[in-house]
Amino acid sequence: MGQYVAPLRDMQFVLHELLQVENEFKNLPKYAEIDADIINQVLEEGGKFTSEVLFPLNHSGDREGCHHDKANHTVTTPKGFKEAYKQYVEAGWPALSCDPEYGGQGLPLALNNSFYEMLNSSNQAWTMYPGLSHGAYECIHEHGTDEQKSLYLPKLISGEWTGTMCLTEAHCGTDLGMLRSKAEPQADGSYKITGSKIFISAGEHDMSHNIVHLVLARLPGAPEGSKGISLFIVPKFLPNADGSNGDRNPIFCGAIEEKMGIHGNATCQMNLDGATGWLIGGPNKGLNAMFVFMNAARLGVGMQGLGLTEVAYQNALVYAKDRIQMRSLSGIKAPDRPADPIIVHADVRRMLLTAKAYAEGARAFTGYVALQLDKELNHPDEEVRKDCADEVALLTPVIKAFITDNAWTATSECLQVYGGHGFISEWGMEQYVRDARINMIYEGTNTVQSLDLLGRKILMDNGAKLRKFGAKVQAFVEANGTNEELAEFITPLADLGDKVTKLTMEIGMKAFQNPDEVGAAAVPYLRVVGHLVYAYFFAQMAKIALEKKDSGDTFYTSKLATARFYIGRLLPETAMLIRQARSGSANLMALEADLF
Ligand SMILES: Cc1cc2nc3c(=O)[nH]c(=O)nc-3n(C[C@H](O)[C@H](O)[C@H](O)COP(=O)(O)OP(=O)(O)OC[C@H]3O[C@@H](n4cnc5c(N)ncnc54)[C@H](O)[C@@H]3O)c2cc1C
Repeated sequence: MGQYVAPLRDMQFVLHELLQVENEFKNLPKYAEIDADIINQVLEEGGKFTSEVLFPLNHSGDREGCHHDKANHTVTTPKGFKEAYKQYVEAGWPALSCDPEYGGQGLPLALNNSFYEMLNSSNQAWTMYPGLSHGAYECIHEHGTDEQKSLYLPKLISGEWTGTMCLTEAHCGTDLGMLRSKAEPQADGSYKITGSKIFISAGEHDMSHNIVHLVLARLPGAPEGSKGISLFIVPKFLPNADGSNGDRNPIFCGAIEEKMGIHGNATCQMNLDGATGWLIGGPNKGLNAMFVFMNAARLGVGMQGLGLTEVAYQNALVYAKDRIQMRSLSGIKAPDRPADPIIVHADVRRMLLTAKAYAEGARAFTGYVALQLDKELNHPDEEVRKDCADEVALLTPVIKAFITDNAWTATSECLQVYGGHGFISEWGMEQYVRDARINMIYEGTNTVQSLDLLGRKILMDNGAKLRKFGAKVQAFVEANGTNEELAEFITPLADLGDKVTKLTMEIGMKAFQNPDEVGAAAVPYLRVVGHLVYAYFFAQMAKIALEKKDSGDTFYTSKLATARFYIGRLLPETAMLIRQARSGSANLMALEADLF
C-alpha cells in the first residue's frame, strides 16, 4: 500500500543549509555539542522507524479502527499499534527532546520537529498517542509542582504513561468559558472531579500502563467564563508514591466516535464521576496553564498537515511517473509505450508541484519556528529569548492554519493525480484527504487561529510582533536587492511585505469603527501572512540553490524550480485574498439571520 521514505535530503537542507542550526546551537549552551553527525544520525534512524514500523500500519489501522468494550470501559487499538508503541518506547523516542533531569535525552526541538514530520507522514492516527503525551509533558514541566514533576515527567518521558487534553464538552468547544465540569476540594488537598468531556483524542487505549488526563473544570464559586477555569491532573490509575499503578480512578470512556478520518486514534467520550485529581497551575489559572499544551499541540497539528502533504506527494509522484494516459501536447515522450506517463501533462505537474511546494515551504517554516522555540527556551540573552518568544507567538496560528489548509488542498490535488483510483480506498489516497480534514478543526478551528493572529497577536499589540518579523524580511530584501538573479523572488516578496503593512493598518483603522471588520478579514488575512512567510523562505532557499547551481547536485535544480513554481503559481493567490480582506464586513453582516 503505497510508500513512505523520509525526505532526509530536504530535512538536512533545511536544518544545515537554510537554518544553519549547528551555528545557532553553539550559542545555546545546552546544545553546543550537537553537530551535523548527531542530527543526521537521528534523522536516519527516525526515517527507518517510521517507514518500516509505522507506515505499514497506517492503512490497516484506518480500515480496522479502534474497538470499545462498553462493559469494561476498555479500548483496543488496531492490530499492530500496541506493538509499534512498545518498539517506539524501547528505542527511547519519547525522550528525544525532553529534559535530562527527568530522564530525557535533551536534544533540540528543531530535531524533534523533523522526527514528528516523519511520524505524521507515516501514521497520523498512531502519532497522536505519543504526540499528546508530549504536550502533557510540556504542560506539567512548565506548571507542575516539584512533586508533580518528579511523579509524572519520568513516566511520560519514558513513554510508560501517555497523556491527553480534556477540554471540550458537548455544549462548548471554542468557547471554553462555558464549561461545566466541577472540581470539589477534598481534605487531603486533592479534588473530586465530575463532568463529561467529548472528543478526547487517545482518551482510552491499550498502549500504555497509565493515562495522565489534563482536565479543565471549575472550582466552587469560581468566576463565570474563562476566568473561572482550573486545570487538574487526573490519572487513569492513581499512582502510588513509587510510580506503580494504584486504584482505578473513575474516569471512564463511555463511547468512541465514528468519524471521517484518523480511525486508528480513539476519539473518546470521557465521563468523570468523582474522579480524583490534583490542581496544576493555580486556582482559576487553568486556561493559562493549558495554553502551554495548546500551543505545543497547535505546532503539532501543523506538523500533521506537513506530514500528510509529504506522504501524499510522494505517492502521487510515483503514480504520475508510472500511469500512462494520452500523449503530451508537445509531442510523444514515450514512443516505446502506447501512451505517455501522465507526468508529461502540464496540469498533473501543477498538482504535484502544488504539494511539493507546500511541503517544502512548510518544512522550512516549521523548522525555523522550532529553532526559535529552542532559542526562546535556552538562549543566554534575555532579549533574544523575548524576541524569539514573540515570533513563536505570532507564527503559531499561522503554522496551525496555513499549513493545514494547504494540506487539505495538497492531499486533494494528489488524490486527483490518481483520477478515479484516488477515490478508491485500496490506493490509500482518500485516507490522506480524510485524515487531513480534522487538522483544520481541532486545537481551535482555523477561523479561531486567524482571529488569534489578527486580533490578539497583531492588533492588540499594535502590530509590534509583526513589525519585528517584517524587519527581518526587509533586511533580507535590502541585503539581496541588487542580486539580479534573485529579483524574481525578491520583488514579489518586497511587494507583499508592503501590502501586508498597508492591509494591517487599514483593517486596524476599520476595526476602531466596527469590531466585525476583524472577523470579516481574519481568514484571508492569515493566508496572506502565510504567503509572506513562505515567500520569505522560498527566496532564501532559492538564493542557496542559485549559489549551488553549478555543483552538479540536481537537488538544487529541483529546489529552484519549486521556488519558481511557488512564486509564479501559488503566491498570486494573495491578490485575491487581499481584495477579500479589504471588502469589509458589510457583505457578510448585512443579511438578517432569518433571511439566509
Ligand atoms: C477527532 C477530534 C479529536 C479531538 N480531540 C480533542 C482532544 O483531544 N481534546 C479536546 O479537548 N478536544 C478535542 N476535540 C475537540 C475540538 O478541539 C473542537 O471540536 C474544536 O475546538 C471546535 O469546537 P466545537 O466542535 O465545539 O465547534 P464550535 O465551537 O461549536 O464551532 C462551530 C463553528 O463556529 C465557528 N466559531 C465559533 N466561534 C467563533 C467565533 N468567535 N468567530 C468565528 N467563528 C466561530 C467555528 O470556527 C466552527 O466553524 C477533538 C475534535 C475532534 C473532531
